[in-house]
Amino acid sequence: MLQSFAYVKPRSLTEAAKLAAEPGSRVHAGGSDLLGCLRDHVFNAQRLVSLTGLDELRGISATSDGGLRLGALATVAEVAAHAVVKERFAALAQGAAVVASPQLRNQGTIGGNLCQRPRCWYYRGDYACTRKGGDTCYAIDGENQYHAIFGGSSCWIVHPSDTAPALIALEAKVRLTGPKGYRTLPLEKFFVLPEDDVTKENVLEPGELLTEVILPPPANGLRSGYKKVRARGSWDFAMAGMAYAITLEPDKKVAAARVVLSGVAPIPWRSLNVEQAVLGQRLDARTLAKAADAAVVGARPLAQNGYKIEMVKGLVAEMLGRAV
Ligand SMILES: Cc1cc2nc3c(=O)[nH]c(=O)nc-3n(C[C@H](O)[C@H](O)[C@H](O)COP(=O)(O)OP(=O)(O)OC[C@H]3O[C@@H](n4cnc5c(N)ncnc54)[C@H](O)[C@@H]3O)c2cc1C
Repeated sequence: MLQSFAYVKPRSLTEAAKLAAEPGSRVHAGGSDLLGCLRDHVFNAQRLVSLTGLDELRGISATSDGGLRLGALATVAEVAAHAVVKERFAALAQGAAVVASPQLRNQGTIGGNLCQRPRCWYYRGDYACTRKGGDTCYAIDGENQYHAIFGGSSCWIVHPSDTAPALIALEAKVRLTGPKGYRTLPLEKFFVLPEDDVTKENVLEPGELLTEVILPPPANGLRSGYKKVRARGSWDFAMAGMAYAITLEPDKKVAAARVVLSGVAPIPWRSLNVEQAVLGQRLDARTLAKAADAAVVGARPLAQNGYKIEMVKGLVAEMLGRAV
């Protein structure tokens, strides 16, 4: 049963940040993840601070330098359908289009998608796991077929977002506003590994809100894409996924590459190994095979998720092959 809580709908960002900083507050955007967590008592709330009265957090608009600004309350459906996103930031449009189901994409926001909590069944279930302040990660010796192969330590969750890997590949920044002011940082620096803090997935401080996502103008000829492999075709989280953003020289050699994996680590996992394997190379069969091997260097599969190794290799070869 859903516990009772107060619901407040501030009319200014300053008021929202102040209320969100108070003990017992939880931030509410579309609610598609938050309300499930409260219903299942993953965590509790005395007060929901709804962002839905803050019109300045809505919308998608061009920036003066030719980039794009996504308000935190832009829905995932709006992002997926936006003409400029589809044309110039294809990886993001493709990532947003495979989030959940049409209903959830209409309700869920881009800010909520980046701040959503992990889907690990031990974290979501009735287990005092490390992420909830306990001393055991039950996935290590338990049912771990959907867990991490990179970046695990005291916790082996995978980050659930499909838009985050695409946004990191596209060099997005996020603006965070809190009681002490605002800061802007690369999205890549927003996420936190368990070894740094096992109880949180991102750097947000109490009262701090993600207010917008800023995409820089894409380089000339930038090609980008996102694909995830999932157990069901209708809707499902990624067992593994990959976003890329690549530019080619006129002779088809790779001039710049950013590659980010999803479904394999507690944070969207930037694969510098793959980027190094393709830089300065033509994306021919030999390079694709080398990049696929490079993608899984350092992977540490658990007892039941070794299949992700081959899945990642297949994704890397397939997606880089598309970039040509
Ligand atoms: C059945 C189901 C399937 C799903 N499948 C997918 C999937 O395939 N891929 C995927 O990526 N996601 C998936 N999701 C996750 C998620 O619901 C959506 O991605 C959605 O975008 C979350 O946005 P929201 O606005 O509803 O977030 P909310 O539920 O309102 O918030 C989510 C979390 O983020 C915090 N938060 C929200 N906005 C902000 C903000 N601006 N600043 C600071 N904190 C904030 C909230 O406090 C909460 O902890 C799924 C969810 C469900 C229920």
